[in-house]
Amino acid sequence: MGRGKTAGEVSEGMLLDLGIGIITLPLPLGMGSVNCYLLRAGDGYVLIDTGPPKAWDVLGRELHSLGCKPGSLNLTILTHGDFDHTGNAASIRNTFGGTLAMHPADARMAEIGDMFAGRKRANFILRALVPRLIGFGTSERFIPDVLLEDGASLSEYGLKARVISIPGHSEGSIGILTVDGHFFCGDMFENRKKPAVNSLIDDRDAADRSAEKLAALKIGMVYPGHGTAFSMDELSERPTQGGP
Ligand SMILES: [Zn+2]
Repeated sequence: MGRGKTAGEVSEGMLLDLGIGIITLPLPLGMGSVNCYLLRAGDGYVLIDTGPPKAWDVLGRELHSLGCKPGSLNLTILTHGDFDHTGNAASIRNTFGGTLAMHPADARMAEIGDMFAGRKRANFILRALVPRLIGFGTSERFIPDVLLEDGASLSEYGLKARVISIPGHSEGSIGILTVDGHFFCGDMFENRKKPAVNSLIDDRDAADRSAEKLAALKIGMVYPGHGTAFSMDELSERPTQGGP
């Protein structure tokens, strides 16, 4: 079911011609995999998402093989507060340095170690289980250095891109849109079997508004948190589908 590529299969230690390295990390218990993206940014790099803590060794190794060394990471962006994306943020800052950034509405999740902080649909069983499954403990908690609002430019970090606020999956979900139309959407969309709106949506109305907002933008390829990259046209050709 939507099994992603195993770590290293895509990146093979090389950035794609576009300057994008894709690092796919396994998730526990058949939950599939999650993608982190390493982008060339001037003389350094920008990392989008950090995977689950249990995949730290693989992430560190992959970053090195892609050419990213301690001191060369300008910025790490968390697309939202879920622990399969924020799990190694604290370790990344400690080991590679650079600035940690995310939207203010999800910052509390990382700060207090509760993925359901601020969510409308708090499932209490998941609330207790997820941090253990993913391995998000007190040493994984962090306070971001920079809070990213809608429209924020990333040029000071060497990346010609801006932040697009896309609440729905969580209130603080953001995407990163580069000037050449590459869009890193976090968990707004997924491509497990086919491109679609994520099946886990916390606020359906907000997600609909986010999808409308994106439809008005010039987006070429979409790079999701889960599954392989796809073109925006592919998504708009089908009715968007999601869970309840
Ligand atoms: Zn996710």
